[in-house]
Amino acid sequence: MSDNKLHDLYFSQSALDIFQKCRKRFQYRYIDGLYWPAEWGIDAETEKELEKGRKFHLLAERYYLGGSIQHQIVEDPELNVWLKRLKRFLPYSQYIISAEQELRYRQKQFKFLAKYDLLYYNKGKKLIELYDWKTDKKSLLKKELENSTQSRFYLYLFKKVGQKYYSDKFDIQNNPDLIFWNPRFPEEKKIVNYSDKNFFNDSIYFEELVEKILMEDEFPMTDNLNICRYCEYRPICRSKQTEEKEIFEEDLDMDLNWEEIEELEF
Ligand code: SF4
Repeated sequence: MSDNKLHDLYFSQSALDIFQKCRKRFQYRYIDGLYWPAEWGIDAETEKELEKGRKFHLLAERYYLGGSIQHQIVEDPELNVWLKRLKRFLPYSQYIISAEQELRYRQKQFKFLAKYDLLYYNKGKKLIELYDWKTDKKSLLKKELENSTQSRFYLYLFKKVGQKYYSDKFDIQNNPDLIFWNPRFPEEKKIVNYSDKNFFNDSIYFEELVEKILMEDEFPMTDNLNICRYCEYRPICRSKQTEEKEIFEEDLDMDLNWEEIEELEF
């Protein structure tokens, strides 16, 4: 197995999530580099929705970087509505820290990577809020977000690294909150709180998971054929077409500029 590749890898929440669901899938994607763009193998309607989600993230980033985007320059009427809702939901202010913030962390064999849609300082609560924009058609209330790998990983990594990084600039007394919001459902907002106990448990959990990945030899296929139904590698493993490809948000960010990612080493 490509040991070097595995030891060079920065683990993101989707890499960890994929490993837990199917080790073979992890091998294909992260070791063998067998990857194709998110748009491949999805229907035109889904592709359009993905593109809209991508544009929304871009608009949100531009808005929070400068605080001004005129509605008139946004041609898509639905995107225009989303932008207005975003401005109402969280107006630009001096407490915006950064948008589309990427963070890499390395300590011995532990290498982690995350990207945050928006970081915001909540002065009243004396904590940093991590915002994550969702744009799919499923209500946040119907999603299992509290205990998802994404939520736990984002909060864990930020508390471990980001919090220290920003503590010179802001008076931070409390653990970060992770806040999900979707412009399709502007009244819904899902807040995931974090505690020292969560952090302690997650530290053990993620470090043990990485150790397990680094010691893996075989990367076997999952026995759960339901997972295979939606996997892009189904034609290779099971000689059947994928029913509906699972899209990971990070698939939409494969153009990450790795040189610009801030690396914090401890
Ligand atoms: S098709 Fe199934 S066994 Fe093959 S990589 Fe995907 S999830 Fe794993």
